[in-house]
Amino acid sequence: MVLAVLAVAAACGREGTPPPKGPNQRELPAYAVNAAADVADSPTWRAAHNRGRLVVGTKADQPYVAQQNPANGRYSGFDVEIAKMIAADLGFGPDRIEFKTIASANRETALQNGQVDYYAGTYTINDNRKKSVGFAGPYYMAGQSLLVRAGDTDIAGPDDLAGKKVCSVAGSTPYQRLQHDFPQVRLVGYDSYSVCVDNLISYQVDAVSTDDTILMGYAAKVPDQLRIAGRPFSREPYGIGVPRDDRAFRLAVDDAIERHQANGDWRRAYDATLGLSGVPAPEPPAVDRY
Ligand code: GLU
Repeated sequence: MVLAVLAVAAACGREGTPPPKGPNQRELPAYAVNAAADVADSPTWRAAHNRGRLVVGTKADQPYVAQQNPANGRYSGFDVEIAKMIAADLGFGPDRIEFKTIASANRETALQNGQVDYYAGTYTINDNRKKSVGFAGPYYMAGQSLLVRAGDTDIAGPDDLAGKKVCSVAGSTPYQRLQHDFPQVRLVGYDSYSVCVDNLISYQVDAVSTDDTILMGYAAKVPDQLRIAGRPFSREPYGIGVPRDDRAFRLAVDDAIERHQANGDWRRAYDATLGLSGVPAPEPPAVDRY
């Protein structure tokens, strides 16, 4: 199943479709590393500084957002760029970041166990998650949406899903919203969205539901097979997950996000990644320090 999705993701675009390639490395900004960075009040920063590298959790199968190239192991996408901007301000160049793939359901545990220093991967800020982790940001506002097969005209929004098989990822906010607000849906849960998309293409499910950012990437790769149905029906403010009690670290990450929004890096990174799925850059949301 996963192989089929990789094949879809690698498929070339057709005439008149958005660029089929991954993020354009040449267009990506280089982030100046702050060699004098010192967040001595932060246990997370001190540990990373002593080990000489940062460990950052992300996704591996979300085109334009966070995707790992199976050929060379490298990660790319908007959230990966956000992670690099932050790392640069914390004193770490891209060669001193180790990315780790962590599924939606395992993010809180990974942060609580110290498996990652921070997490950048379509991670919605909410009060329930704030009981176990901290959030810097938000750095982007997404919204839950629906992906269907291009020829399907039955589904135009979540109210059309009664009795339909809909796939999402266990532990994600879109999964939880369908479960609670749309109980007539026949919900199917997997560990990652690419498996859901594979199930959609092979007629195992009728729709995939998660953030528009993620779905746009899949649709842009094979626009003759997949399309987004209707409008987003939630607000998903993306945050950087950090260890809950390391306030100094969280505020340092907030500083980095604000600085890179103000200096144009955020916008340039968007245009070279998520922007390739066809949606112009929105205004970034205001950082919310708490
Ligand atoms: N933003 C949603 C969440 O944090 C869905 C995307 C994801 O699973 O990463 O649960």
